[in-house]
Order: sequence, then C-alpha cells, then structure tokens
Amino acid sequence: MTRLGRRAFVTGSLAATTLPFISSPIYAADFDVVVVGAGAAGLAATDTLRRMKKNVVCIEAAGRIGGRIHTDQSIFGVPYDMGAHWLHNAATNPFVSHGQDNGFDLYRAPDEDVLYVGDRLAGSDERDAFETARRETYAAIYKAGAAGRDVAPTKVVETSGEWAGTAHQLIGPYEMGKDFSQFSCVDWYNSKDGTDWFCRQGFGAVFAHRWRDLAVETGTVARRVSWGGKGVEIETNKGTLSAKNCIVTVSTGVLAANRIRFDPALPDWKQAAFEGISMGLYNHVALQFRDNFFGIGDDGYVIYRLDGADAMSPRGVGLLVNVGGTNLSLADLGGSLARELESEGQQAATDFALGQLRSIFGADVDKGLIKAHATAWGRNPHVLGSFASAEPGRFEDREALRRPVGKRLFFAGEATSETEWATVAGAHKEGVRVAARVARLV
Ligand SMILES: Cc1cc2nc3c(=O)[nH]c(=O)nc-3n(C[C@H](O)[C@H](O)[C@H](O)COP(=O)(O)OP(=O)(O)OC[C@H]3O[C@@H](n4cnc5c(N)ncnc54)[C@H](O)[C@@H]3O)c2cc1C
Repeated sequence: MTRLGRRAFVTGSLAATTLPFISSPIYAADFDVVVVGAGAAGLAATDTLRRMKKNVVCIEAAGRIGGRIHTDQSIFGVPYDMGAHWLHNAATNPFVSHGQDNGFDLYRAPDEDVLYVGDRLAGSDERDAFETARRETYAAIYKAGAAGRDVAPTKVVETSGEWAGTAHQLIGPYEMGKDFSQFSCVDWYNSKDGTDWFCRQGFGAVFAHRWRDLAVETGTVARRVSWGGKGVEIETNKGTLSAKNCIVTVSTGVLAANRIRFDPALPDWKQAAFEGISMGLYNHVALQFRDNFFGIGDDGYVIYRLDGADAMSPRGVGLLVNVGGTNLSLADLGGSLARELESEGQQAATDFALGQLRSIFGADVDKGLIKAHATAWGRNPHVLGSFASAEPGRFEDREALRRPVGKRLFFAGEATSETEWATVAGAHKEGVRVAARVARLV
C-alpha cells in the first residue's frame, strides 16, 4: 500500500472523482497480493495484509464497496439494508463492537414473534401445534446433521401436518434461501448459532464506517486470472495487475458461472466445489407503510400459517415489521419462489408480498402502503445469488472451496467459512484467516 506513495488508490466514494487521474500506477506495480472483491472478506483481507506491511491492492467490480452488505438511505429516506441486516453471532461479531465503539445504536433482536392464522391471531392450541411442528423439524434436521448424514431435509422431516409448510419456511427459504430439497442437513448442522443483533442505522452503515478509510479500486472488474507462471496476472477492464498471490473473494455464484476465467483452468475438484456450495436466493421486498401500520411494535416478526403450501417448497414471506423503529418493513422471499418471482421482475415480487399481507391484514394494506422496492440479488452480475450452502451430498466441497490452488491462488468469502457461512462476520473472519496465511508466504 505505502509503495503507491501519492495515494494511488481510491477510498470509498472518492472513487468516481479521483480514479481517472490515479488509477494507472498500479498497473506498473508488482504487488505482493491482489485481492479480488471488496465485500466483507476482501476488505478484511486487504486490511490484514496492509497492517502486516504487505503491498496489496483490492479491486472491486462495482462502484461501491460492501458487495452483499449495503445500507441505502435514498429510496425510503430511512435506513434500508438491501443485503445483510442481522448481526448474527453477536458475541463474536466484529461489527457489534465496532458499532458500539463508534456511536451506532445496536440492540439485541427480539425473540418473540406474532402468529396469524388467516386474518386473526392464532389461539393457544394453534400456537402449540406450530411450536411442535417447528421443534420437530429442527430436531429431525439436527439429528441427521449430527449423525453426519449429507442428505436433504426432504429425506428426514415430516411433510404432513397443518403447520409443516410454516415450520419449513423458517428454515428453508427464510434461513437458507433454499427449498428443503436443496441443502445438506450436515452443512446446516455445522453452522454456528448465536444471538442476533440489529443496528438502527443499518448493518451496512456500520460496515461502511468500519472501512471508511480503506483504499479500494472500485469499478475494476477482474476478467482473467493467469497463474501458470511464477506469480499471478489479473486482467481487468482497466489493465493488467501483477502480484505474487491473489485472494479471490467473489461469490460461488460468480465462480460457478465462470465470470472470471482462470488460465490454466482450475483443477476439476475446485471447479466442482463452486457448484457443490451453491448459491441460495433470498430477496427483500421492502414496504414502507404509514407509521405503525401493523401495531405490533418495532422489529416484530410476523409468522402466518401457510395453508395448502407444498411443505418442501413453501411459498410465503418472512415478515419483519417496523425495522429499527421506522415505517419500513421487510417481506423476505427465499428459495425457488424467490427465483420464480425474480425472473418475472420487481413488480411480481412486490405483488406477491402484498398479496400475502392482504390475506392477513386485509385491504388496508393498500391504503397504508407508501412505497415498495424489491431486491434482485440473483440478477446482480457481481453476486448471482444471496448466500451459499452445500447441496445435498456435497458437504465435502466446503473443504475443497477453502483449499488454495498452486500456492498462489487463495479463496475467501462467506462460503469458505466452516461454521459462519452465509454471514458477514463469517466472510470477515475468512478474509482475516486467509490474509494471515498469505502474509506468511510473502
Ligand atoms: C438479501 C440478503 C440478506 C442477507 N442477510 C444477512 C444477514 O442478515 N446477516 C448476515 O450476516 N449476512 C446476511 N447475508 C449474507 C452476507 O451479506 C454475505 O454472507 C456477505 O456479505 C458476503 O461477503 P463476501 O465478501 O463473501 O462476498 P461479497 O459481498 O459478494 O463480496 C464479493 C465482492 O466481489 C465483487 N466482485 C464480483 N466479481 C468481481 C470481479 N470479476 N472483479 C472484481 N470484483 C468482483 C462483488 O461486487 C462484491 O463486492 C445476506 C445476503 C443477502 C444477499
């Protein structure tokens, strides 16, 4: 970093104004490490290497840092986390302590939820039946996972019962971004569980603050990574970068789609791992309502019985209302339903979410609605999905994903985490881990 003297990098939002003048020197430099991607893993890796006095450059295809974590203020005038929103595993999540030390308003996410059957609140018998279905579903997947059974939940859970679809919705589409046929019990079992926190200003806002001074080359797309010679050459839309090592932090969706060419081609076991640890899809439909439309307080979860749903591919939304005390609510879609609606367009996702809300809250939904926006992470060319998990029978691919190639190509990201995959904190820790390993080599 320091070798580039006169700030041959750009920092966050300054990119657009300063890039044309200062971008060229990096293409003449010989770096210790090029980090591809400025999401949670890439920024943590870059920072770690810089602290260890390595000569590192981080390139990012998009015009902003963050990747799958970003708080928008412009659409609704209130914080809108378009990607990650929950600060999972708060006890060890580095962004909790960063937020607390820097004046952000962080608090523990509520545990309670509100349960509906049709347009009324569930009675106590119904609540008991739901809790039983939820407990049994978790127990079946947990038991299979603990026994090392690398099979889909479809093989181990009950499909019948009034509440099966509702219970499955919470684990499949809402947690994994996948249906029950699309992920492995043992992979799910291995994920770490802890307390979730929220940040009133948005998770993305804390994240952006954490990295506000870290230099990144935005708008720089890695197209080809040549690793057949002594070091690595990264061909971008702006020129070719040379380095001893490269840390690739893009999603498995981007890697499986061969958006970056590797020359020579990666070994088969590596390429297969990109497909084995496949991307789920999880999209927010953000809905802004008249203040306190739902009348159930801040950050309230609404769960409702999914009547007639295919229990293995539930078709519902996960609803978090009055996010951070604002008038914004998130109706989240996951799995094959999310894919179907995303392919039809933003309006289809919004219509579906509003239809679900009407079935609970009636036509007042239309009167109360101010504005809507739906994300489409599967169509974001630099991400191509939301977060990754092992396909049934492909759990071993996690380890293959973590393994470097040719002692100079390293991979880090949420998907390389053994226990905190699909999370920002997991991606961050992987960035630190891999960077420390690379630093020992250079
Ligand atoms: C809707 C949604 C909700 C989520 N909810 C949560 C949550 O509540 N809590 C949580 O902890 N996690 C959540 N996640 C997951 C979390 O956001 C991710 O696990 C994490 O941000 C991934 O970080 P990463 O660095 O591995 O990858 P990314 O964030 O994908 O970073 C990779 C970067 O590489 C860039 N890139 C891609 N191709 C190229 C190229 N060719 N050249 C240069 N750069 C390239 C991308 O633009 C991107 O910025 C959510 C994700 C989504 C989409």
